[in-house]
Amino acid sequence: MDVFAPAAPVPPQQSAITRRLAFAVGTLFIVGVIAAVGTLLGIAARLDREDIDETLFYTARALENRIAASKSYITSYADWTTAYEHLSTQVDTDWAYTQQNVGKTLFTSDGYDGVFVLDRQRTKYAVLQGQLEDVDISRLLKVPAASLVDQVQSQPDLTVPISTYSLFDGWPALVTAAVILPNDERPLGDPKQTSVLVFVDKLTPTKLRAIGVAYGLQNLNLTPDELLAKERPRVPLDNTGYSLTADLERPGQHLLWSLLPTLGAVLAVLMLLTAYFLRHALRSSRYVDQSFSTLQASNQALEAANHALEASEERFRAVAEAASDWIWEVDNQLRLTYLSARFSEVTGYPQTQWLGQGIGQLVACATTPLELWLKKLSEDSNASDLRCTYRDHAGQQRHCRLSARPIIDKHAVGGYRGTASDITDEVAAHAQIQHLSMHDALTGLPNRNQLARYLDDALLLKEHAPPLSLLVIDLDNFKPINDSLGHPAGDAVLQEVASRLRECTREHDIVARLGGDEFVVVLNGMDSRHEVDRFCTRLVESLHQPLAFEHHPLHVGASIGIALSRRQGFVPSELIRCADIALYQAKSEGKNTWCYFEAHMSDQIQTRRQMESDLRGALKNDEFVLHYQPRYKVDGKHIVSVEALVRWQHPTKGLLGPDLFIGLAEQTDLIVPLGRWVLREACETALTWPSDILLSVNLSPAQFALSDVVEDVREALVQTRFPASRLELEITENVMLVDTDGALATMNALKELGVRLNMDDFGTGYSSLGYLRAYPFDGIKIDKRFIASISHGANDRAVVQAIIGLGKAMGLTVTAEGVETEEQLDILGKDQCNEVQGYFMSRPIDKSAFAQLLKDSRGGPLEHTINASTHAQRL
Ligand code: C2E
Ligand code: MG
Ligand code: MG
Repeated sequence: MDVFAPAAPVPPQQSAITRRLAFAVGTLFIVGVIAAVGTLLGIAARLDREDIDETLFYTARALENRIAASKSYITSYADWTTAYEHLSTQVDTDWAYTQQNVGKTLFTSDGYDGVFVLDRQRTKYAVLQGQLEDVDISRLLKVPAASLVDQVQSQPDLTVPISTYSLFDGWPALVTAAVILPNDERPLGDPKQTSVLVFVDKLTPTKLRAIGVAYGLQNLNLTPDELLAKERPRVPLDNTGYSLTADLERPGQHLLWSLLPTLGAVLAVLMLLTAYFLRHALRSSRYVDQSFSTLQASNQALEAANHALEASEERFRAVAEAASDWIWEVDNQLRLTYLSARFSEVTGYPQTQWLGQGIGQLVACATTPLELWLKKLSEDSNASDLRCTYRDHAGQQRHCRLSARPIIDKHAVGGYRGTASDITDEVAAHAQIQHLSMHDALTGLPNRNQLARYLDDALLLKEHAPPLSLLVIDLDNFKPINDSLGHPAGDAVLQEVASRLRECTREHDIVARLGGDEFVVVLNGMDSRHEVDRFCTRLVESLHQPLAFEHHPLHVGASIGIALSRRQGFVPSELIRCADIALYQAKSEGKNTWCYFEAHMSDQIQTRRQMESDLRGALKNDEFVLHYQPRYKVDGKHIVSVEALVRWQHPTKGLLGPDLFIGLAEQTDLIVPLGRWVLREACETALTWPSDILLSVNLSPAQFALSDVVEDVREALVQTRFPASRLELEITENVMLVDTDGALATMNALKELGVRLNMDDFGTGYSSLGYLRAYPFDGIKIDKRFIASISHGANDRAVVQAIIGLGKAMGLTVTAEGVETEEQLDILGKDQCNEVQGYFMSRPIDKSAFAQLLKDSRGGPLEHTINASTHAQRL
């Protein structure tokens, strides 16, 4: 049977119908109750609304009738000839009040609180609450008396009275006014001249109650509008701020109050009955559901158990046959009784070869004997797995991880079963990672981590440990190779250097690569200077041998800094630091050399580092300036060329000469950007000079090594548009010493740009004039040391004469540098030197001073020039 088949369909449907029915009955009941209550509320509201309408209607009617009665009553007095005769002009008080024609009785029996006779100008007669008073109606009445008189006198029919509401003595009153007229046929004059009779009926609570009773109104009352609730039904009395109200009967609410208790009781009973019914219905349906689910669940459980059993067997088979692990079983003698099919695939042995054999013969663990581990398993089932080795059919050593469980047979351990996972690849990968973390990937040499570990071990015993010499080696000339020939060349160099370093060292020494072109050699058990010097000589020689890359010979050198454990201490990082400082010193002393750490180097290094960082800042902040020193024809008058000489306008130390920073710039890479700046700046400035004046710029040998000078010069010429034919480059012979072939190629390329080349400081190096022949120089500058001594002895003069003679014979322009006296100038003139340069003619001066000098020298004799130069800034 399919365990996932749906259950028999009827019971769930039945229970669903019951539930839906119960829900419908419940809903119907609620809807019914809401409808009934709604209807009842509607009826009650309608009854209340009718009651309000009725009350308002009767209130209004009561007022209208009061007005009508008052109008007709006043007409009976005003439209009366006798009254006209006694009241219209001069009021006859005796007739009116004493004889009670229009007097007390109007209050006592008719309820008028005020009776007045007035005309446009004044109140002529006033009776207040039955008493004759001398009072002006305007003092009591809020409505202006004049407008009242106007209104009644302008009626088309003067016999018709008017009525209005007004506050009288602070209380709402009905004011009725009529023109006093004769009721005979006599002619009437101007209506405006007639007198007006006014009756004031104050609507007091007593009067209102009486009116209300007559109209079936309860508690008819006057209330100020502001005190009445907004929704309160009312009849407003215009002009007074008061409204008439009466108590409402509210028949709707009465109805509700009388019906609600009964209705509530009935609803509650009905609700209880419905709830009982629904609960009963739902419970029966749930019971049906439950009994069905129980039946279904027991079927499903049975099915699931069968299924799980099948799956488990299936899984076991799959795991046993397809998993990378193999499964084994041993009896209590630890002889193999079962091996899964996977065993022969992994190990290459047929299972039958091993069945019956002891498992210990197949696998072994170097740290824990197998028997012991298995025995421990029967005591502690949580024991961890065991890493073992074995030899496969081909004799290869492999690694596996064993896990096992005891087989309990009748409460005793009858053997063990478990799995063996082959972890040979995992172990190899781990070893590889381990190796990589400790070795440099390119050269295979130990890296910084491994070196640190080695030093920690070697220096653990401090002074009791064998002495160590730690050498930090930095390759010279590596960067240009890497930059110009690319990384493959750089990598090849590093690999070759690594192998040469290994060749030079003994087995218990260590050679490590720290990164870049920096290596460390630790000579274990050796620290005599003599031995270390010998080692360094060998090393430098070995590294000096050309390296072959794609059939190119590459030249690198090495500078070495040395620290000795017995002198610089047993802290690895400190040793490396000291050797580093010594290396810095070695580099500044010249390449291909070594240097032992000395305490004073730290300070020097510190100062140099500071200077180096200042120098970097200076480039960024544009702190360099160029001074210019002219070169003359040997007559000392005509300027042929101008040499640009760099200075550093240091923010605190003042103007610094090149001897203080060019060396440092050369040892760092800073000479490259500095050299480019000088070229550009000089060319730009020289553009402002007459076109027959050449410009000389010094190039450092380091620029040749660290940068593509040809490109630098080309770029400066292109960017400034300075003619190449006006540019002269001064190069010292050291250029040829570093890389003879490379220097020649570079110089030829420079010549191809169209510039002139001058050999500077001739005579200070090793070069001979014959040697010069191979290079494309246009001129030489004899170093100032020779010139300084020409006037002292015939021997020195002879040397200079020889140089001039041979130079000229080779077609070179010969310049004498450092001419400081007239005598020197004369001698050079006699010896037919071509050109001269020196303080005698002009010191190096700044841009503007040189411009002035030029102006003067072009316009006048040499004295001007000398004067100008003495004013110029001196170093
Ligand atoms: P240099 O190229 O041989 O320049 C001539 C040096 O001799 C200048 O020194 C100059 O001031 C000095 N000098 C000129 N006439 C006389 C004299 O009659 N008597 C004496 N005693 N000295 C005189 P400065 O300016 O100190 O330059 C020194 C060196 O610095 C230069 O020697 C040059 O090798 C280097 N240098 C100067 N500017 C640059 C530059 O822009 N780039 C490079 N790479 N090197 C430069
Ligand atoms: Mg020079
Ligand atoms: Mg020079």
